[in-house]
Amino acid sequence: MSDVIEADVIIAGAGLTGATLGLALASAGLTPVLIDPQPFDAQLAPTFDGRASAIAFSSFRQWRALGLGPSLEPHAQRIEQILVTDARSPGASTGAPGGAWLRFDAAEIADRSDGEPLGYMLENRRSRAALAEAVERAGLTVLAPAAVAGVAFGDARAEVTLADGRRLAAPLVVGCEGRGSVVRDAAGIETIGWSYGQSGVVATVHLERDHEGVAHEYFLPSGPFAILPLTERRASLVWTEPTRRADALRSARDEIFHAHLRRRFGDFLGEVEARGPRFVYPLSLQMATRLTGPRVALAGDAAHGIHPLAGQGLNLGLKDVAALAEVLSEAARLGEDIGSEAVLERYARWRRLDNIAVSLACDGFNRLFSNDNPALRLVRGAGLAVVNRIGPARRLFMQEAGGALGDLPRLLRGEAP
Ligand SMILES: Cc1cc2nc3c(=O)[nH]c(=O)nc-3n(C[C@H](O)[C@H](O)[C@H](O)COP(=O)(O)OP(=O)(O)OC[C@H]3O[C@@H](n4cnc5c(N)ncnc54)[C@H](O)[C@@H]3O)c2cc1C
Repeated sequence: MSDVIEADVIIAGAGLTGATLGLALASAGLTPVLIDPQPFDAQLAPTFDGRASAIAFSSFRQWRALGLGPSLEPHAQRIEQILVTDARSPGASTGAPGGAWLRFDAAEIADRSDGEPLGYMLENRRSRAALAEAVERAGLTVLAPAAVAGVAFGDARAEVTLADGRRLAAPLVVGCEGRGSVVRDAAGIETIGWSYGQSGVVATVHLERDHEGVAHEYFLPSGPFAILPLTERRASLVWTEPTRRADALRSARDEIFHAHLRRRFGDFLGEVEARGPRFVYPLSLQMATRLTGPRVALAGDAAHGIHPLAGQGLNLGLKDVAALAEVLSEAARLGEDIGSEAVLERYARWRRLDNIAVSLACDGFNRLFSNDNPALRLVRGAGLAVVNRIGPARRLFMQEAGGALGDLPRLLRGEAP
């Protein structure tokens, strides 16, 4: 029988959440082991994950604190403004008549954010590459390709079995394997949720005119349509449609896709041209009913998979990481058992409310906006106009979206865990 690999924390899933957690724990002096069925190299290919993510400024601080700044900064596009509208005509959010709109401007909270932008747009492949480099630099043990097949939770430790038969043991296992978490299932933690019947079509477009760091979000009856600024005068589109229409857009010939794109996008940024592959992501809500159990914790999409309309999914996962790393590092310093329920409950208490509030807010916004009900149009138009006129409300939204409110873990303030 093969030897058992020992660690302080076994992290199932070396995606954006798991790899960040590995680095955070290592910087706190713990010994994590990362496991993923995908080798890091495969995750870096342009065809692996076409998404770009809006990274809240507090999440970006955490990556900087973990040493990713020099690799990420050249690729990070500052988001200076966010324009939200439920107008149907493209470009209405630039202020043209035709619909209610709401404007968030980084300059308005500069005094509280040290001049940070509202967030940064980063292509996931760039973030994955930076994390892979940092994980290697830090000398972390990464078992990949390898998949967690089962977990046995004992009194003093948990034992993980990999699909290839290898075994690992640690006082704590963290499930970071996304929505299909094996660790979550092995711990008997249930999920609740529903499908939105929508899918997000993701593509990268090249623009004739500079986007000036402005992100646009149109709430259209079929679902939100977001134009998110990237470096090199490009933008990432997240184009939400009912699933059947989204699948048709993915497989449409280039000229057909471009015709739809021009109609939807308009010409306020000049000619737009989609280059590279299109990706389609089915959208659903999936929430774990608990974040922890004896010798187990969940983080990232394993704990909460949400609608992407406000760009908060990964940010929630990165907030989980910051809180969990701080709880574990303090417990280890005090000589406590890091996998005990008493310690893990501190993590659950820290993250539970924020995870539920953000997930349900995104769900509610999608329901309120993804329809053409005239009464709701009236209400939401009035709502957008009112919030737009009230400076303190706007500033509160911006700080919440930036992850700057509440009891922040040290990493989200840019400090060591
Ligand atoms: C269209 C779209 C746009 C989005 N835009 C944004 C945005 O702008 N901002 C934002 O914050 N969020 C955004 N999100 C959400 C964000 O992409 C997710 O929250 C994030 O990718 C979750 O990362 P994760 O590491 O938790 O999970 P995953 O990315 O699902 O990673 C899970 C990892 O676990 C591994 N794994 C799977 N099974 C096993 C196993 N048995 N054993 C070990 N490992 C396993 C997988 O290989 C993978 O590497 C968006 C989502 C979508 C769909």
